[in-house]
Amino acid sequence: MLTLEKVTEEIKKYKGRKIKIMEVCGTHTASIFKAGIRSLLPEEIQLISGPGCPVCVTPSGYIDELIEYAGKEKYEVLSFGDMMKVRGSKYSLTQAKAMGGRVRFLYSPLQAVKLAKENPGITYIFAAVGFETTAPLYAILIEEMEREGIRNLKLLTAIKTMIPALSYLCEKEEGIDGFLCPGHVSVIIGSKIYEPLAEKYQKPFVVAGFEGEHILAAVYEILTQVSAGEYRVKNLYTSAVKEEGNRKAMDAVMKYFEPSDAWWRGIGNIASSGLALKTDYADYGIHSDLSVAEESLPSGCRCTEVILGRISPSQCPAFGKRCTPMDALGPCMVSAEGACGIWYKNS
Ligand code: SF4
Ligand code: SF4
Repeated sequence: MLTLEKVTEEIKKYKGRKIKIMEVCGTHTASIFKAGIRSLLPEEIQLISGPGCPVCVTPSGYIDELIEYAGKEKYEVLSFGDMMKVRGSKYSLTQAKAMGGRVRFLYSPLQAVKLAKENPGITYIFAAVGFETTAPLYAILIEEMEREGIRNLKLLTAIKTMIPALSYLCEKEEGIDGFLCPGHVSVIIGSKIYEPLAEKYQKPFVVAGFEGEHILAAVYEILTQVSAGEYRVKNLYTSAVKEEGNRKAMDAVMKYFEPSDAWWRGIGNIASSGLALKTDYADYGIHSDLSVAEESLPSGCRCTEVILGRISPSQCPAFGKRCTPMDALGPCMVSAEGACGIWYKNS
């Protein structure tokens, strides 16, 4: 087995063609900064961010829809932290709350059950945003709602799935040579699921943990595959990611949800890239059908290019000027997993 020193040395020595590696998830972006990975890479290797932050890819129309509910008599909107600060076409949920809208910030979905039980006269709209990582929590929430007979809590769903998005990137975006797969998502969906993508698009898909040495090992694996012209899935995170993933969690999700088209902010509709409640459980939610939505993106914000890895955050003219975490133009600067916010905090 190669030592970390040897891997680093081999990476530094790389003098082949230019290679772009997409780290799909924001936690990897943060780890890359924390471990100073870029300083160890030759200029031929570029790490680019991807669409792996659920908040960043939630369409503005969805936030507008939540704000509309927040203004309705006998309704209250419930949301996790990061979603509160992202602007819709005009306002964020935080701003809507400041203007008198009924919006509440939650730490856990199960808090919603308690609220709904205590206040039967209010209909609670839960901002159910996330990837496969969060979807099992929503399944648990619905199970709890079923058990308690709760009917005044509704999920406004904008849940997305990774494989169709990766397919989209492989089809539409040129120049991505390999993928550092999202770590937490892979815990749920497993590593095997990437195999058809590796085969069809002839690209390496490497699953790795979040420590610096894990990321370096993944970069080395991608270089090795690209140099050899052999493309496959490699799971370097076997302590957490099984081939088949977490079947129990996925089965719980698939009991209540089914694939649906979904709108990714700045990208558009990606077929079957979302999860919507099945007809039998439709009463537990409201499906936000934004498949034909008109997007209203803040003028000057280049989040789309950032999440597609076409530019780095610092190449956006607004970065650190018109757009900072205190006064963000786009979601990538707001969310804890957003590439722009991570670059800003580390630059
Ligand atoms: S949930 Fe985990 S795997 Fe998914 S984008 Fe966030 S940090 Fe990455
Ligand atoms: S720096 Fe701000 S304006 Fe520019 S892409 Fe990022 S979030 Fe959008």
